[in-house]
Amino acid sequence: MKQVTLIRGDGIGPEITEAVVKIIKAAGVEIDWDIQTAGADVIETEGVPLPERVINSVKNTGVALKSPVTTPIGKGFRSVNVQLRKDLDLYANLRPCYNLPNVKTRFDNVDIVVVRENTEDLYAGIERQVDKDTAESIKIITRKASLRIAEFAFDYAVKNNRKEVCIVTKANICKLSDGLFLECARDVAAKYPSINFREILVDNCCMQLVQNPNQFDVLLLPNLYGDIVSDLCAGLIGGLGIAQGANIGKNYAVFEPVHGSAPDIAGQDKANPTAMLMSAIEMLNYIGEKEAGEKIKKALFKTLEADIKTADLKGTATCSEFTNTIIDFLVD
Ligand code: ATP
Repeated sequence: MKQVTLIRGDGIGPEITEAVVKIIKAAGVEIDWDIQTAGADVIETEGVPLPERVINSVKNTGVALKSPVTTPIGKGFRSVNVQLRKDLDLYANLRPCYNLPNVKTRFDNVDIVVVRENTEDLYAGIERQVDKDTAESIKIITRKASLRIAEFAFDYAVKNNRKEVCIVTKANICKLSDGLFLECARDVAAKYPSINFREILVDNCCMQLVQNPNQFDVLLLPNLYGDIVSDLCAGLIGGLGIAQGANIGKNYAVFEPVHGSAPDIAGQDKANPTAMLMSAIEMLNYIGEKEAGEKIKKALFKTLEADIKTADLKGTATCSEFTNTIIDFLVD
């Protein structure tokens, strides 16, 4: 039986985790979950939000399904998400964004895959207070990280029958840092003649995305622009409740929804488990359970088509009702 680390998170984390585990079981996939706690609750007992045992578990199983974990603000802890990505060298953040059935959005047929560099840029956390009125943050871009993320994006494009990779930077202003990222992407693009290569500045990209998103296929971005643009793309397809994500490295992968722990609705059976479920479907693909993943996706789509939706999608279903309907469609 395949072992997968399961990080239950906090806020709505435990509710959506329970929903997804139930659906996967109902689809007939046997997984030996290594359940790991992390986040605010763990600080009291273990002193840190991300204990070493969680990292060791992922190193052991190779793959994790993770629900949102809150990093307490202003208590001196590093972000759990950033630390996980760094400790496991999960250098690629992958966010496929496409329309789901019966989820009304401004545009139809959006199908964009955001590939975000996950380890450097302004997220390197190199900041200092120069004097009391001046702060400084250093943007790190290296050839090694830029080449490997570009290779990831082009490889992904080939393996998933995509036509184009569009690289997004602000290389006209950040001439050295974004310039290096762009140069590396161009070098990699030259090795993939079957994939179109396009360049765009991030400000123009944002405008084009909200005017005509259908022109985009795979987007390749450095860390910070990737963070912002991927949330923009999540908005295009119906918001955080349905936006899936994955962090992938050479040896390990962590699948997680884009949204946070939504403390405002935690414990009320209101959360939408779709983003977590879509992330789990990608996790199932990754561990070789593609067929089960497709089966679950079909049941999810039928549920949405039947107009069973949670409050964030203007429906009236609770998280449990939504989950149980998916399970009913699985056995149909
Ligand atoms: P973080 O800093 O952890 O990202 P946040 O508060 O900025 O936290 P979220 O926790 O993602 O962001 O919540 C943003 C809004 O979206 C909240 O109003 C929340 O209730 C809503 N939301 C997020 N995820 C879901 C979900 N799965 N189902 C329903 N509503 C959600």
